[in-house]
Amino acid sequence: MYGMGEHRDTGELLRAHGLRVTPQRRAILSAFADGPAEHLSADEIHARATTVIPEIGRGTVYSTLAELTELGLLSAVGAPEPVRYESNTDFHQHFRCRLCVRLFDVTIAAPPTDHLRAEGFAVERVTITAEGICAECVAYEAGLVSSADQARRRPSGTLPATGVAASTMATPVGTITVGATADGVIRVVFDDHADVPALNDAIRARRGGRAARAHLARGKEAVGAYFADGQAGACTIDWDRLDDEQTLRAVTTIGPARSASYDTLRTPADAGARGHVLGSNPIVILIPCHRVTRGREIPRAYVGGEERRLALLRLERG
Ligand SMILES: [Zn+2]
Ligand SMILES: [Zn+2]
Repeated sequence: MYGMGEHRDTGELLRAHGLRVTPQRRAILSAFADGPAEHLSADEIHARATTVIPEIGRGTVYSTLAELTELGLLSAVGAPEPVRYESNTDFHQHFRCRLCVRLFDVTIAAPPTDHLRAEGFAVERVTITAEGICAECVAYEAGLVSSADQARRRPSGTLPATGVAASTMATPVGTITVGATADGVIRVVFDDHADVPALNDAIRARRGGRAARAHLARGKEAVGAYFADGQAGACTIDWDRLDDEQTLRAVTTIGPARSASYDTLRTPADAGARGHVLGSNPIVILIPCHRVTRGREIPRAYVGGEERRLALLRLERG
């Protein structure tokens, strides 16, 4: 009767999935008593459930349906997101990305339906929606993973050889090294970043002029404020020496405890390039790439490693 097999009654089915047997859950599952061929709307399920529990609310029905679907006891058919409109009125097929939840026009050959005619159906068209992870989300992840890995193994080559003042600071996520030029902050990196040896050289040699030292001091204050209050302070970034300034700047518009998917950033860089620049973000915290998601997913790849990303998100969200 139910998707998960041979359970004698709804109580047994719920227990088999580790759920407490509540009258509400039983009432909702009992709406499917007529068998697996039915496809019910939430309103129909609500109406049936009220025959068991007259006072059951719509909110309870919706939240219980979501929970049972999540656990695999029920299956939801039809995209949960709102109807989308498009100017392409020719009949065509779509690919739906389960991460960024975008639809893409694709060409998929329709399967034969002759046997349905034999069963009495008058088929007029076959709608096919392929689902999975879109090409852009795949490219973003690939860029992110490869550059996060590179950032730990190979010096970036974009750190100026002269004029950099640097200093370290202890933070809840380990030592952070900050570097600045006469034009602003150029690096904020964790201690496994491949630029750390060059920054350490700058520390030992006490490099950097007066302007670089002033930017360094303000950069450290800005990072310190982030760990003290959850919000980074203001300082100047040496944008001219950073690759893909537009993508990095777009990330600075994502506020504390918020997130944005890579595809919503206002930058001309393609998905793979976005992943590449964010995976090797040279100024962590102040350019909060830890807040950039891949649609609904928090990526594992991060320039400071997955653990640090999760620690930063926990710190911000309290
Ligand atoms: Zn996608
Ligand atoms: Zn379309």
